[in-house]
Amino acid sequence: MSKRNSWGLLILLLLVVNEWAPAQKAKSAKAKSGAKSVAQTKATTVAAANSKAVVTSEQVAAMTDEVMKQVSEIRGLQLLHPVKSGAKSRAEIEAMVVKSFNEEMTPEEIRAEAKTMEAFGLIPKGFKYREFIIKLLTEQIAGFYDPKIKEFHLADWNALEMQKPVMAHELTHVLQDQHFNLLRFDKWPKADGDRETAIHALIEGDALAVMIDYLMRPMGQSLTKIPAAALTQITTMMSSADMPELKAAPNVIRESLIFPYSYGLIFTAELVKDQQWQGVSAAYEKLPQSTEQILHYAKYKNNELPVKITLADAVAAFGAGWKTTNKDTHGEFGYYLTLAEFLDKEEARKAADGWGGDQYALYENAAKTAATLVHLSAWDSDVDAQEFFHAYSTRTAKRYPQSKVNSSAGKIVYGTPEGETLIELRAKNVLVIEGATAGKAEGAAAKLWESGIGKE
Ligand SMILES: [Zn+2]
Repeated sequence: MSKRNSWGLLILLLLVVNEWAPAQKAKSAKAKSGAKSVAQTKATTVAAANSKAVVTSEQVAAMTDEVMKQVSEIRGLQLLHPVKSGAKSRAEIEAMVVKSFNEEMTPEEIRAEAKTMEAFGLIPKGFKYREFIIKLLTEQIAGFYDPKIKEFHLADWNALEMQKPVMAHELTHVLQDQHFNLLRFDKWPKADGDRETAIHALIEGDALAVMIDYLMRPMGQSLTKIPAAALTQITTMMSSADMPELKAAPNVIRESLIFPYSYGLIFTAELVKDQQWQGVSAAYEKLPQSTEQILHYAKYKNNELPVKITLADAVAAFGAGWKTTNKDTHGEFGYYLTLAEFLDKEEARKAADGWGGDQYALYENAAKTAATLVHLSAWDSDVDAQEFFHAYSTRTAKRYPQSKVNSSAGKIVYGTPEGETLIELRAKNVLVIEGATAGKAEGAAAKLWESGIGKE
C-alpha cells in the first residue's frame, strides 16, 4: 500500500534463492550427465533459534573486501570510499530495526495507516499493526546497510560463508548510496506512497538482481540468462515461502513487503536486458514514477506518467469535529491488492490494469470512533474506468453480502453494517465513498467531484 520500510525480507529471499539456485544447478547437471535424479540442496534456515555469536567484526571486514570486489564488477560501479562493516548480535540488530521503524512513522501515522487498511477491509478490526510488522521484520533480518551512518552490519549468529549472498545484496546498497545518494529517498514527501514504493522497488530490485548474479556466477550463469518464467517463479516462491510469521500476515502486508523485491527484481532484469547495468544506474536519475511503471516496464520506458489527483476537501460534509487523518496514493499495485482481497487474482489484475492515477483520504470524527474512506481514481480510458467500476461493485457486494443496494446509471449506493458505500462512475473517473454515516455520502460526493484531476 503506502509506506515503505527499509528493513527488508532479505532472509526470506535468501532462502528462496538458495532453494532455487541449487535446483537450477541440479537441472543443468541432470541435463549434462543424464542422471535420473539429483538431490536438491535443502535451504538452510538462517534465522535459526540459536543466536550465539559465531562471527567477529574482523571476519566480516575481511569478507566485505572480497565480496565487494565481485559486486563492484557485476554492477559496474567503483567503490568510492571504504565502507565500515561489522558483526552485530540479534539484540543489537532488533534494536536498530525498531529504531528505524519509529523514525519512519509516528505512532499517529501508524494508527491512521492501520485504520485506513481496516476501512478498505484489508486487515481485521483491532489488528496490532505496529507490533506485527516489527515481529515480522526482526524475525527475518540478517544484515543491513544504514545510509545515515554509512555502515554495513551483518548478523553474528550465522556462519559467514552462508552470509555471502546477503553481503552481496547489502554491498550493492553501499554502491548505490555512494553513487546515487540513498538518503534523498529517506524522508520522502507524505501522501506520495505509490511513487515511494516504486523507487524502493528499484533500490531493492537492483540489489536482489546483483545478489542473484553473484550466486549464478560460479555456475557460469548470469541474471540476463535467466528466462522470464523462472524469475516469475522466484517471485511466486517469495509469497508462498515457508515462514510462519509471513504466512500469518494479512495479504496486504505480506504482498506489500515483498513487492519491492519481487516486482523490483523483474523490473531490474528487464532494464538490464534492455540497457545493461548502465540502464539501472540511469534509473536513479530517471526514477520510476509509479508501481504501474514497475509492473509494466514499457510504461517506464515510454515515460507514461500518473494522472495527478488532488481530492477536494470534503470534511465539512461529514460533520463538526471531523478531520482528514490519512491521505495517500494507492497506485495500480494498491488497487490490485484491494480488489484481490475479495475477487479472483486474475480478475483483480485485469481491473487494476489501466490505472491512471488516484488519491485516497481517511476522514475520522473527533473521538476517532467513526471513519469514512474516500478514493477517486482516473483510468486510461472510459472502458478501463467501467471495468474498475464493475469490479469494485462486485468486491463491495462480496464484502457485504447482506447490503441493501440502490443503483442508478453509473452510481451504486450500498447500505452496509459499516455505513453507506457509494461508487460512482463519470467518464474516465471513479469515486468511492465507504462507511459514510447515513445521508452523508451524496453531499460528500458532490464536493469530491470538484477535485483536481490532471496530468503532472
Ligand atoms: Zn535491500
